[in-house]
Amino acid sequence: MHIVTSIPQARALFDVLPRPLGFVPTMGALHDGHLALVTRARAECGAVGASIFVNPTQFAANEDLDRYPRDLEGDCAKLARAGVDVIFAPTPQTMYPEGFSTFVDVGAMGTTFEGAVRPTHFRGVATVVTKLLNIVRPDTLYLGQKDAQQTAVIRRMIRDLDAPIGVTIVPTERESDGLARSSRNVYLSPEERAAAPSLHYALQAIRLAMASGRPKVDAIAAARARVSPLAQLEYLDVVDADSFEPIETLRPPAFVIGAARFGGTRLLDNLWIDG
Ligand code: AMP
Repeated sequence: MHIVTSIPQARALFDVLPRPLGFVPTMGALHDGHLALVTRARAECGAVGASIFVNPTQFAANEDLDRYPRDLEGDCAKLARAGVDVIFAPTPQTMYPEGFSTFVDVGAMGTTFEGAVRPTHFRGVATVVTKLLNIVRPDTLYLGQKDAQQTAVIRRMIRDLDAPIGVTIVPTERESDGLARSSRNVYLSPEERAAAPSLHYALQAIRLAMASGRPKVDAIAAARARVSPLAQLEYLDVVDADSFEPIETLRPPAFVIGAARFGGTRLLDNLWIDG
């Protein structure tokens, strides 16, 4: 396995890998959720590339860029064991050199839910993913269902900009109590960690209630009570999987989505409704 930090080195290595080439972009601090993406890519592709880059343009000034967990050595060992061929781990300076000024505008889909709470987030995500796709030039991009709105925004961007790349969405990996695995779970205090799966239970309650015919507004109102009082709930909703627009029934493909703050930590979760 090779670890490269410069764009020319990365291009030279990615260009000669067997095809199809699968690509897994990450921000590091890797857990079994990330590794599920690599395992899927390994099973489906001739070679697998991954990136480790804590992308500053998707963090707002008041967010956790500086304290985001970093463990490059541990991450590289995990990716090597999982069968990654090349890791691209650039510095912020390499990705955003002096004079950088071009961003991808993802439109309305980037302004709701996560985009309402984090107004410049999806512009940063779309920009870095575009840059990474241009550097790695994969055949298939592997994304986690865990970040449901991100999957919708990137799939839309790839369609809108005619990027010749397939997208595969990999189901969310969870802890045994249902909490979605996330690099940010390490921020949780023991009490917050114990309360955190309640977000997942609230989403399940919405799905169950709506599947048995309850209107969305009632299902969501009842589910709110399931979220731990330790949490500040930000949103619960049901959206179309492609447009990310709210919908009133569980018409597939859809997501039941939620976000809540446990102390200083924002957690996201969703359920995939595929009929
Ligand atoms: P991140 O490092 O948080 O940017 O995540 C990198 C990729 O891993 C994204 O496509 C995420 O959606 C995916 N991912 C993160 N957590 C999970 C999880 N628990 N299960 C599956 N995929 C995940």
